Amino acid sequence: MNILVINTGSSSLKYQLFDMAGPTVLASGLVERIGESRAKLMHKKRPGQDGEGALTREEAMPDHGAAMRAVITLLTDPEHGVIKDTSEINAVGHRVVHGGEHFHASTLVDADVMDAIRACVPLAPLHNPANLIGLETAQALFPGVPQVAVFDTAFHQTMPPKAYLYALPYELYTELNVRRYGFHGTSHRFVAGEAARMLGKAPEDTNLITVHLGNGSSICAVKGGKSVDTSLGMTPLAGVIMGTRSGDIDPAIIFYLAERKGYSLGEIDDILNKKSGLKGICGMNDMRDIHKAVAEGDVQARLALDMFGYRNRKYIGSYMAVLGRVDAIVFTAGIGENDPVSRELSCRGLTALGVELDHERNQSPERGARDIGAAGSQVRVMVIPTNEELEIARQTGEVLRAR
Ligand code: ADP
Repeated sequence: MNILVINTGSSSLKYQLFDMAGPTVLASGLVERIGESRAKLMHKKRPGQDGEGALTREEAMPDHGAAMRAVITLLTDPEHGVIKDTSEINAVGHRVVHGGEHFHASTLVDADVMDAIRACVPLAPLHNPANLIGLETAQALFPGVPQVAVFDTAFHQTMPPKAYLYALPYELYTELNVRRYGFHGTSHRFVAGEAARMLGKAPEDTNLITVHLGNGSSICAVKGGKSVDTSLGMTPLAGVIMGTRSGDIDPAIIFYLAERKGYSLGEIDDILNKKSGLKGICGMNDMRDIHKAVAEGDVQARLALDMFGYRNRKYIGSYMAVLGRVDAIVFTAGIGENDPVSRELSCRGLTALGVELDHERNQSPERGARDIGAAGSQVRVMVIPTNEELEIARQTGEVLRAR
């Protein structure tokens, strides 16, 4: 079975075509700057194999339809392609950011599902409209091919009310759906499944803290394979310190800024989402640049790094309290997979709670899923590369089988 996975942004389209028999990636790519006169298309055939069939080109792509047509042409082209025609695509799996309370699982897309995704637009005004365009485009270009929506929020729908409700007037929840939803669910679900497998335990018997540290970051308490709490909130602004997002702050700061600086709500939104986090503290949001600056003695970069590690550690400690027994802490995503310093700072001082890193294994440049906990560590510490596209393809396959 071949499954095409699509992740649409407002001006981008990412795709991976999987042969689920391996599963193997047959082709993958990215179109950026859709809508501009020089959109950029990068395509790889069978990634990892000698660059043959790879291509990068710039051309005008007025909309997502044009981008998707260009992708189909490439996938079926004799030189860059991997299939004869689109009839070899059995299903399309779509990443959809917000499923609100409506979607607890991945689902086959029909008119009602499209309406329900549309109803979630106020909760994710930047992301859901782009995801809807991806769905509409794929429906038009792959008529009769099942489309499956896989939601970033669905994994967290198992959180209990005491974890997802804010202590606000209750009618704000009942009338306006104000609550914690959490995001990165596809990634947390994927690494939690892999961790249980590596531990040799059934997911139902496994308690984990999954730590997704990328540009956007979130930490999740997973009890018996289910999300019971997570650091992102109603929007992806809450929780730990991110590249440019503040994470948790005292909400009263917003009123103080409005009063003292006369900022509008839009300006404050911009500050919290785009000018805060690591960037707010040291001017840089890429962790590699921060490490370079730290090595050159940059005091602000050091402070940003320490704050980042400290906030992660506070969340990990609080989720240990939530879970009681923890089998493993699992690091993933760009920083979690590649940065031993961030992992060390996030676990520092947790020895009394049974968490101990093996410093050599933590520093090792090894890639792939691995255990970096000390031999005697009661709680295992793991690094597991995330693979959200594969998880979307798997979920899509499961939805098709359950039909
Ligand atoms: P996104 O949330 O956009 O998917 P990623 O998961 O790709 O982000 O993570 C991006 C972050 O990972 C950046 O801060 C980047 O600096 C960091 N990163 C990537 N490789 C390394 C590395 N080798 N060492 C430290 N940080 C890294």
